[in-house]
Amino acid sequence: MTDIINIDTPAPTFSDFGLHPSILQAVSETGYTTPTPIQAQAMPMVMDGRDVMGAAQTGTGKTAAFTLPILHRLMQFANTSASPARHPVRALILTPTRELADQVAESVTTYAKSTPLRSTVVFGGVDIGPQREALRRGCEILIATPGRLLDHVEQKNVNLSQVGILVLDEADRMLDMGFLPDLDRIVRLLPAKRQGLLFSATFSNEIRKLGRSYLTAPAEIEVAARNATADTVSQIAYPLAGNDKRAAVVHLVKSRGFNQVIVFSNTKIGTSRLARELVRDGVKAESIHGDKSQLDRMKALEAFKAGELEVLVATDVAARGLDVAGVPCVINYDLPYNAEDYVHRIGRTGRAGNTGEAIAFFAPEEERYLLDIEKLIKTKIPRGQLALPASSSSSSSSSRRVPAGGRGERRSYSSTAPAKPVDEFFYKPYVPSSSTGKTDAVRSKSVATSTKKSVGILLGGR
Ligand code: AMP
Repeated sequence: MTDIINIDTPAPTFSDFGLHPSILQAVSETGYTTPTPIQAQAMPMVMDGRDVMGAAQTGTGKTAAFTLPILHRLMQFANTSASPARHPVRALILTPTRELADQVAESVTTYAKSTPLRSTVVFGGVDIGPQREALRRGCEILIATPGRLLDHVEQKNVNLSQVGILVLDEADRMLDMGFLPDLDRIVRLLPAKRQGLLFSATFSNEIRKLGRSYLTAPAEIEVAARNATADTVSQIAYPLAGNDKRAAVVHLVKSRGFNQVIVFSNTKIGTSRLARELVRDGVKAESIHGDKSQLDRMKALEAFKAGELEVLVATDVAARGLDVAGVPCVINYDLPYNAEDYVHRIGRTGRAGNTGEAIAFFAPEEERYLLDIEKLIKTKIPRGQLALPASSSSSSSSSRRVPAGGRGERRSYSSTAPAKPVDEFFYKPYVPSSSTGKTDAVRSKSVATSTKKSVGILLGGR
């Protein structure tokens, strides 16, 4: 049987958890003051060695929710010996994508920096050699994508017989991506007596089944309602002809002065092409998709995180697990065919309590996807009218046109001080969902109505 835990109890402080002082020190250096709801609920249970199933979107602080107590529990094994034998893998964290693995590894390194505990990350798409060497040196915490981990197992680079803690992060994505057989193979290599933690954006029947087979009497923690969209994300949809969409991206970026926008496109080719064209339009843009080398993907991601890009054009898989603080806006250039992907996409903004905007473009033939999305999130997405500068597209469309300030060409956009936004929507401060007006479709941008709890969600890739 599982316990259902309520999230209405007051949040404790990090020092209430009894974390090892070296870990508490690292937490205070990050500047976090208050545990997030998932942290407040999960940490005491993970500290106690219980199995936990957590339904939480990325952006809720779930990585720290499992990492901090795991590090605390492993401190009993911490040692400074150089011998690999003294550093067996004791905690295994599996993630669906390389990007997520990399991000989790970064968090583990941050929180473990004042301890002698070692961690390593392994994922596909990069040279296996350095990973082999790192594994052979020994590490208490291993973060891995399933496929690459099995490659290492086959090459006998890693021994999993002392794993006492297993984490399945974004388990729903792992199932979506067909990792179940790999997970089964991996779990069979682990000791039967172990602590199991499973995190997933949603608790579908499949996830519950997975929980039953890999976990023992897990506590269930749910901090978000299924398929709602984050309260911190305002949404709007603009009807646009297909060939006006690019001009609309340029316009939004330049008129709003955005410098970290993720633009989602449905195809790898479309993603590359759009990024190239945006660069020609004077927008600092890069693309990230599955056909790019891991190195190129990481370079683009780093440039984006460093604030060097105005736009990152991404496919769903490539963006899975992206955790970039402060992304102000996500644009759905193409609406996703799968409505759930919309929720995952817009979960890239409005993270960790920040507000964000999710803008969708839809050509007439795409409206049915918008209706599917609205059905899934049980919310009507306000429709707006985007006023494009008269020169910024080759075709007529349903969008309104205004003069481009007399300068004619598309490249007349200046990237210095943001131009005055054309749409009055842009003058409005963010209005929390509970107080939005119902009559003004544009202003009632805080879509997730007050009855909805945040969900965010995430992404995946091998
Ligand atoms: P996650 O859901 O683990 O991807 O975390 C989302 C973001 O929230 C990360 O950028 C974390 O650094 C940040 N974060 C995690 N815990 C806290 C906290 N207690 N207070 C503020 N930010 C946090």
